[in-house]
Amino acid sequence: MFIVGLTGGIGSGKSTIASFFRELGVPVYDSDAEAKALMVSSEELREGIIQAFGKESYEGQSLNKNWLSQQVFGNDEALEKLNSLVHPAVRKHFLQWAEAQDYPFVIQETALIFENQAQDKYDFTLLVYAPEETRIQRVMSRSGWSREKIAARISAQLSDEQKKELADQLLENIDLEVSRARVKQLHKYYLQQATATR
Ligand code: ATP
Repeated sequence: MFIVGLTGGIGSGKSTIASFFRELGVPVYDSDAEAKALMVSSEELREGIIQAFGKESYEGQSLNKNWLSQQVFGNDEALEKLNSLVHPAVRKHFLQWAEAQDYPFVIQETALIFENQAQDKYDFTLLVYAPEETRIQRVMSRSGWSREKIAARISAQLSDEQKKELADQLLENIDLEVSRARVKQLHKYYLQQATATR
């Protein structure tokens, strides 16, 4: 299975670019959404979370997001513990999903690849980026978060400059039509690469 990792900082437009690939027929796995779903549906993951963070982590069948974020907020060790439970569960689920897709390649959309030194898990990594002020404006109008909160999120991630050095392909997402054209070009390239390495 040929796997492309699609990543980018908050407000860069990863999900928008992922939707352009989907429109072309590419199977795209949304890691964030799948992680949230697995935290509820996977018995093994639920048990791990309850063991680590207490039974307050769930309210009946649903995840108690407030409780869990209180446990990990500003606590690197707790966050690492949560990630060490969630990441392998997502990886396992992703690989099963990928095997079931009938397409020359698949895309995994995920916020953190380089931050987790996970680039070796992909045949290619594609970085979506945009100027910081543009990202702040996008997130402010989408979520109503304050500029400070968004800026804090941005500075907690690797900078675009650092990620550009590590990514295999780049997509500057400012003008949507330019981005769409770049997606078409990359789609063709990935199809070629995926079929050539079969
Ligand atoms: P996050 O990491 O915060 O989930 P993301 O990188 O997935 O964000 P999107 O959700 O795709 O980013 O985009 C953030 C917001 O910016 C959305 O409201 C989206 O519609 C808008 N947006 C994305 N790309 C562009 C663009 N090129 N021009 C204008 N608006 C855009």
